[in-house]
Amino acid sequence: MLAESLYDKLKNIKVDNPLCNYTLERCERLIPLVEEIEALKQEKNALVLAHSYVHPDILYTVADHVGDSYGLALKAKEATEKVIVFPAVRFMAETAKILNPKKMVIDPNPNGGCSLADSITADDVYALREKYPDHTFVCYINTTAAVKAACDVCVTSSNVYKIIENIPNNKIYFLPDKLMGENVQNALGSIKDIKLYDGSCYVHEEFTADEVHLLRQSHPNLSVLAHPECTQSVIKEADVVGSTSQIVNYVKEHKAEPNPFLILTECGITSRLQVENPGLNLVGSCMMCRYMKSNSLELIRNALKNTLPSQIISIDPEDQRGALSCINNMFNYNNS
Ligand code: SF4
Repeated sequence: MLAESLYDKLKNIKVDNPLCNYTLERCERLIPLVEEIEALKQEKNALVLAHSYVHPDILYTVADHVGDSYGLALKAKEATEKVIVFPAVRFMAETAKILNPKKMVIDPNPNGGCSLADSITADDVYALREKYPDHTFVCYINTTAAVKAACDVCVTSSNVYKIIENIPNNKIYFLPDKLMGENVQNALGSIKDIKLYDGSCYVHEEFTADEVHLLRQSHPNLSVLAHPECTQSVIKEADVVGSTSQIVNYVKEHKAEPNPFLILTECGITSRLQVENPGLNLVGSCMMCRYMKSNSLELIRNALKNTLPSQIISIDPEDQRGALSCINNMFNYNNS
């Protein structure tokens, strides 16, 4: 890859954060690192799966697939390479290991937490199951393997409404995202009794309906696209609610329209849209996830070159079985 062709893509990123400003010189400095990673990928037979929220210099260089947790889970399941490197957060690398346990899955990120996944433990779930024995326990994919193993069905932001609707039991306990759960309650509350846990994503809870109102005053034809991890008041203001992939696809299909877009999710999606649709009319601010943005090309290179035991995903066999069943139930309900 040439520095010029990388710069040609990344120069289109215009978000309000110096981390996302790319110059030709910065791209020139990155290229030797990219070449080193590509050689290590060949040598180790490794596949790189990158979440859309990580730095664009990872997405547009060494990543073999870019997407949301559902899309990347499918790629992990189908992977034939010996090694999967997963620049994202820990629970996503765990999901790859659950779906393809014979592969070595490497998490290069030393700060791969997530405010949502870290808000609940498996012991919390077992205690809740005693309290609500008649409920089907549904967990968002943003949970650890142990929490998934303690639940019945997993969901992602792209299928949460469909799956909860398809579950035959009308009594649902949804965890850990209270905000997403409230949005599901609003949509399905007439047919399902949905109890909620009190976790939230620190990035998505920052968006406010006031910000949307303000922007609508200066941009009357604004198209507002929001992730279901946002608050109810924001979701009520949105024209489209969807996962990151659904947001990316919607904008691609509607970009010829003159309306500006406001994207209410982590600003990796804004960067992706700017790179993939130069000249797109986007308004609004940038909210960054510090966990996702802890990934870097240097960390990926180091993890491939000298993998530390702490970077290799290993899951307790009982959690592995339980979490796989929880995820497979998601695939089954998604297709029913
Ligand atoms: S954006 Fe929110 S839900 Fe996603 S990894 Fe970051 S803290 Fe977790």
